[in-house]
Parts: sequence; C-alpha cells; structure tokens
Amino acid sequence: MNASLEDQASTSGHRDSAIPLPGMPEFRFFKVIQDYVEQAAELIELPPYLRRILPEPKNEIIVHFPVRLDGGQVELFKGYRIQHNNILGPFKGGLRYHPSAGLDDFKALASLMTWKCSLIGVPFGGAKGGIKFDPRLYSNSEVERITRRFIHSLANNIGPDTDIPAPDVGTGEQTMAWAMDTYINTSGSGGNQANRGVVTGKPVAVGGTLGRGKATGQGVVHCIVDWAERHAFELEGKKLMVQGFGNVGSHTAVLLSHLGVSLVAVGDHTGYLYNAEGFNTYRLQEYVRKNGSIQGYPNGQPITRAEFFGVTADIFVPAALENQIGDEEARALQVRLVAEGANGPTNPAGEAVLKERGIEVLPDLLANAGGVTVSYYEWVQNRRSESWTSADVDHRLAKAMHQGCQHMYDLAHRYGCSYRLACYAAALERLRIVYEQRGIFP
Ligand code: NAD
Repeated sequence: MNASLEDQASTSGHRDSAIPLPGMPEFRFFKVIQDYVEQAAELIELPPYLRRILPEPKNEIIVHFPVRLDGGQVELFKGYRIQHNNILGPFKGGLRYHPSAGLDDFKALASLMTWKCSLIGVPFGGAKGGIKFDPRLYSNSEVERITRRFIHSLANNIGPDTDIPAPDVGTGEQTMAWAMDTYINTSGSGGNQANRGVVTGKPVAVGGTLGRGKATGQGVVHCIVDWAERHAFELEGKKLMVQGFGNVGSHTAVLLSHLGVSLVAVGDHTGYLYNAEGFNTYRLQEYVRKNGSIQGYPNGQPITRAEFFGVTADIFVPAALENQIGDEEARALQVRLVAEGANGPTNPAGEAVLKERGIEVLPDLLANAGGVTVSYYEWVQNRRSESWTSADVDHRLAKAMHQGCQHMYDLAHRYGCSYRLACYAAALERLRIVYEQRGIFP
C-alpha cells in the first residue's frame, strides 16, 4: 500500500475531497471539463465562435444570507447558483450542500449538466448550485431555515420556466419540498400549482414523480446492462464495489443485486467495509437511512480506503464525489468496468491509467443521466397536472438510456475516441445545430 493512499484511509471522521489530498495534485474540476470540451470540439470541428461561447457559464450568482440557529446566534451562509447554458431549455441542475463545495466545482457541475441534457435529449440547459456547509452539523430545523432562506435569496433567478433545482450531495426529497414551498409562497404567483415544477426530486405526495428516487441508479444499471450485452459479459454472479452509499450508490447496488451482482465492498465519508459473501443491499440501505452512514454496520469488515481500491471485483461504481480515481487508485483497481454514478469521479491521470490497463469507463455524462431524465418527466407531469405510473416512467427511462448508449457507441466508433469524448461530441453536435439555426442575438 502506498503512502498517500494510506494517508487518506479512514474508518471514521470526515474527509473533504475537493481539498487536495497529500501527494495528489490540485484538482481544477472546471478546467478538467473545459479540456474535455476542447478535445471534443476539435474532433467535431466545432466553429471557433462556439468554442468561445460554450465553455463559459452564462450567469454566476453568489449570495450571502443570515440564518438564526437553534441557540439564538446568527450565522452567515454563502450560496451559489451557476447557470451555464439555456439554449436548449430552462437551466436545470442539483443543489449540493457540502463544506468543500466552491465556485470552481459549481461551474464544472453546471456545465456537466448542459452536456448531459444535450446528450440524453431532454429540453433543459445546465445549472448547479448549493451552499458551502456541512448539513450533518446542523439540526433539521436549522437546515430547513437555511434552505428556505437560500431559495428566497435566489428570488426570481429560479422558476419552473427559468431554472429548476434538484437534489444532489447533501440534499434530498425533503430539501426539495422546502424549496418548492418557499418558492410558491414568495413568488407572488398566488399559489399556482404549476409552480411545483420549480424543483424536481420532490416527495411524490407534494408533486414528485414515481421512480425519481431510484432514477439515477436505475440509469447507471441500464448503462451497465447495455455494456454487458455488447461485451457478452454475464452479470449474474459478478462482484461489485461502490463508493458512496447515498441516493445514487445505494439504488445502483440494490438494482444490480436483482441481476445477481453482489456488493462486496462499499465506502462512504465515514470509511470502507468488505464482505466476501456480499452485503444484503436492502438492509444496508435501510441502515444508512436510519444512521446516516455505513459506520457501525455489523456485517462487514472495516478496511482502509487503499484496501478498498485494491479489492478484486468486476464492476466499480463511484457514487460519491469528484476526483476519487487518480493515478494510484486507477493502478490499484482490479475490475473490468467503471460506471460513473458520481460526476467527475475519474481525474485525467486516472483516466489515462484505466485506458492503459484496458479498464472501460462508462462516463458520468451518460451513466448518471437517468436522474435528470426522470426529473424532466416530473416537470412535464407538474405542467400537465398528470401522474404517470412507475411502469410508464421506467419504460421511458429505459428507452432514453438505451438510445443514449447507442449514440455514445456510434460516435466512439465514428471518431475512434473514448466513450467520454464521444459523449461530449454528441452533446456539442446537438448544441451546434441549435446555435446555427437560432443564430446569435441581435
Ligand atoms: P448523497 O448525498 O445521497 O450521497 C453521497 C454519498 O457519498 C454518501 O454516501 C456520502 O457518505 C459519500 N461521500 C461523501 N464524501 C465522501 C468521501 N470523501 N469519500 C467517500 N464517500 C463520500 O448524494 P447523491 O445524490 O447520491 O450524489 C452522489 C454523486 O452522484 C454526486 O457526484 C452527484 O453529483 C451525482 N449525481 C447525483 C444525482 C442524483 O439524482 N442524486 C444525479 C446525477 C449525478
């Protein structure tokens, strides 16, 4: 085990991924994404004016707002909303609550949403936002007040026709319910129910859609199944490792267990666990719902982060944060496939090593696009006052994901490039057509 991986090992305590780790080079997330955009632009010979426009966000909103905490003291919070591009439709993207989230991350994550929506064919643009704080350190009522005050600070910068937030790391259904309620009560729209579409990922009872909770994980699984079919790779009996056991990681593991894939190693912000026999994914998901993390789960052996990356398995699903698979992790991995549930989990150095070692990567732009796809279905239902069945949602999602996969493989073949660059190329091709037809105002 090498020193820098050892330094990161932990079975308790928090580690901020965006803070450069010992021995790990600084990770400039936005620059990494811009470089991919530039490489894909080169491949498809994107005109220079679009190479100038597309990498930069349209609006960068930063707000500071005070909130009174339970003890009576007032704390000032910093919130962000980056609106990257809306040529395809309203800005769309998650809200992240994390202590290390900053402007560079939000710019990267917002632009990823633009490419993702374009690739998967939903009529949304790209945005991302959130607050730089650790919600685990605050009471539920404090997080509610922080959320409401943040949404109020964003004012008319969000709305069902302008910019539509959704859950991301550190936020969930409850956060979206508070956000929607705040918007409806403060937007002066007289409680117009169509305004429920101001956010997606809401609880079903307040206007959410069936199937949204598991949608991102379901999309990851569709991509894995599609890849397995193309590679004559029998999934039954295979082993899985998952980093991050929140919304995306836990649903992916549960859904893959239905296909006979067993979860042998899992990790989150509190540490890593191993179970050669395979975890009961339902029980682990329930445990995390009750306890907030995998820490203390009885049916697994604690291992270090370095040991986790060296576990022999078949599929690895990173579903935590960006910049988790660098050079060392990529050299340690003993899997055939990496399916990116998280946004930006593989850094360029890690990507180069994975390529050299013949480990295939299903990139974030496609692999985790199931979330925004079903968010779009939720938004459509809110506009039309409809409630679709879960079978209807599942069927549409499966179709969208398989079309996305086909598109990626076609372009990878056409340009002789990686799956990642094929996804960027597909996204840019669609945007180019729209810009060429609409022109530049005035
Ligand atoms: P979540 O908050 O539900 O779960 C995040 C998980 O990551 C938790 O298990 C947490 O403990 C773990 N984690 C946090 N820091 C960690 C660290 N330093 N090391 C190891 N584990 C760590 O968040 P989520 O919604 O599941 O999002 C996970 C990833 O998926 C993010 O990259 C997010 O942008 C991406 N994503 C989410 C959605 C969605 O619908 N929720 C859609 C597309 C992409």
